[in-house]
Amino acid sequence: MGDCCVKVALRIRPQMAKEKIEGCHVCTLVTPGEPQVLLGKDKAFTYDFVFDIDSEQHNIYQACVYKLIEGCFEGYNATVFAYGQTGSGKTYTMGTGFDVNLSQQEQGIIPRAVHQLFEGIQNRRMRAQEAGSQPPEFKVTAQFLELYNEEILDLFDGGRDLESRSRKSNIKIHEDASGSIYTTGVTSRLVQSEEELLQCLKLGALSRTTASTQMNAQSSRSHAIFTIHLCQMRVCQQSQMNGGAENGGAENGGAENGELNGVDSSPIAQPEFETLMAKFHFVDLAGSERLKRTGATGDRAREGISINCGLLALGNVISALGDQMKKGGHVPYRDSKLTRLLQDSLGGNSRTVMIACVSPSDRDFMETLNTLKYANRAR
Ligand code: ADP
Ligand code: MG
Repeated sequence: MGDCCVKVALRIRPQMAKEKIEGCHVCTLVTPGEPQVLLGKDKAFTYDFVFDIDSEQHNIYQACVYKLIEGCFEGYNATVFAYGQTGSGKTYTMGTGFDVNLSQQEQGIIPRAVHQLFEGIQNRRMRAQEAGSQPPEFKVTAQFLELYNEEILDLFDGGRDLESRSRKSNIKIHEDASGSIYTTGVTSRLVQSEEELLQCLKLGALSRTTASTQMNAQSSRSHAIFTIHLCQMRVCQQSQMNGGAENGGAENGGAENGELNGVDSSPIAQPEFETLMAKFHFVDLAGSERLKRTGATGDRAREGISINCGLLALGNVISALGDQMKKGGHVPYRDSKLTRLLQDSLGGNSRTVMIACVSPSDRDFMETLNTLKYANRAR
């Protein structure tokens, strides 16, 4: 699919013991060597990537996220979504859950990204030191928000209890003159290390809203948005100052030493500095299932309606971004808090990956079909 700014990956989780015991059949078939899946007998869908039941966390990370983190060091915003019905593996894939029993191998996207980020910072400092040039300065901050009924909650706001949850938060979304989106009233945690950032994530994940439904006792009816801001001040890399870094800028990290030496030996004695800002959103979306299926009524049903509003708006935005590549046009970011919050990290120069998560079992056929169709709109 080449130049579209949104990449779509499909991930099929393994069958659960319960599904096997209850005699569910596998109704998904991945075409060998192709990013294509066949649902049932005749419903074929092709994406940028398809990960079958035996794929591992690091496969998904390498294919979908690695380059995006490298891009953050060059100033490009990025967003990774996990979409799918409750129980399809969104939280497992994203690593937003708080699970002390996960092995290193089973770690999801966020802990891996955090590791890559701090390793990248360390490497850049070391390279500068070895080259005898001024090391870049980095500032890493994190935010953890939850969107629930079109209301924004701050997962880093420690003293929150059930009562304060129901109080309206004073978080607001703004847009500056350059089109950057920023929030006010949100806790930003300044972190110095991988460990510190992961500790923040755990604390936030613990306070995440969960409500039980008949489908999944830990079912999450809200969107969780974990955001890392990377601010970098470094010696200008003159050859990259012409704005042509859009493609490939992230890949030539190795050329940095040469560039910096070049600056040193140039006639200008004082090196110039540039500040690069990037943010990375990790979004564990609310369950995409239809309400009837979970037997939700009352409050639960109301939640479902506005959750669908966010997912609907996101689908429309992503689909409009695809059309825009072809013929230009309006992108309806303002239709939900979710899309408004992510506006400057979807489309434009930013990189977006949607990971659609599905169950392989025939019992979930209709929901899986819905997810495959939703993901298809993004292409
Ligand atoms: P969701 O967040 O979409 O509701 P979860 O991530 O909580 O779904 O996954 C539901 C269950 O399936 C969890 O127990 C999780 O550990 C398990 N699971 C999901 N994906 C995988 C996978 N790829 N491999 C092994 N277990 C998985
Ligand atoms: Mg979940």
